Amino acid sequence: MPREIPRISRRNVLVGAGATVALSGIGLRLPSAYASTLAIGDASLQVVSDGNLVLPMGFLLPDRSKDEIDALLVPHGMATDRVEPACNLTLFRTGDRLVLFDAGAGQNFQPTAGRLGESLEAAGVDPSQITDVVFTHAHPDHIWGVLDDFDEPVFADARHWISQAEWDFWRADDTLSLMPQERKSFVVGARNRFDAIEEFVTFLKPGDMPVPGVEAVDTNGHTPGHVSFMLHGGTDPVLVTGDAITHSVISFERPDWEIGSDQDRAQGAVTRTALLDRLAADKAAIVGFHLPYPGIGTVERAGAGYRFAPA
Ligand SMILES: [Zn+2]
Repeated sequence: MPREIPRISRRNVLVGAGATVALSGIGLRLPSAYASTLAIGDASLQVVSDGNLVLPMGFLLPDRSKDEIDALLVPHGMATDRVEPACNLTLFRTGDRLVLFDAGAGQNFQPTAGRLGESLEAAGVDPSQITDVVFTHAHPDHIWGVLDDFDEPVFADARHWISQAEWDFWRADDTLSLMPQERKSFVVGARNRFDAIEEFVTFLKPGDMPVPGVEAVDTNGHTPGHVSFMLHGGTDPVLVTGDAITHSVISFERPDWEIGSDQDRAQGAVTRTALLDRLAADKAAIVGFHLPYPGIGTVERAGAGYRFAPA
């Protein structure tokens, strides 16, 4: 029963009373609510928080001047030196399936992330109830959370779905050597998780439906095998975007700006612009993984770009 062994970890500290006060000094922000829900026909969607990341602005916009960044973000009252994106995981209940999109960061990526376990508990969900874990891509904040503190699979009863192209990219012989030094840990971390979950994995490709009503949509660019997922069943579909869209202002007002966290920056911009155009035309709702919690809203045209309209 390794998961019941008492252990002094950040997670244990967090669930104690007064955690907000005790941890406010390290930039931890507790979402105002742990969950947000949306009905999609007979199915339902619930956003659970994995906490947030803290990243220098240069990680997102390495090619933009301070003046350009100030001009875009200051009118929104946003910090210009760093971003603190939320990590919004989507739970989807349909028929006898309970689907989790992405698995969060786990305990080894950033101290402000890795809080999925608490959020699931608050939502009344035991990890053993999840039937399917569906990945948008294999970056640390999306896949490292498949392993617990003891490097055991958290969702050992679930089928794990990932795009074949994504798996092949991280497993390719030259990926580690070609990856910039500061992101080599992403490769090592992804491979380590792949090894641990391989027996539960089924590959998918764009157009496939891993779960009835869940359609994989090609949104490559952020990573080579990045996929988003359209949830059908209601009158209007909902797109779980993953990281095809990452920032509530930058991605929408300047979708053409190349983003440093995209593996293929040019393709990322092309994919993002095309996706926003389609979402605005379709008036489809989205769940944005890194948009302000819970990340549910719609896309509207605004001037030469777009605007995120939170639900
Ligand atoms: Zn991400």
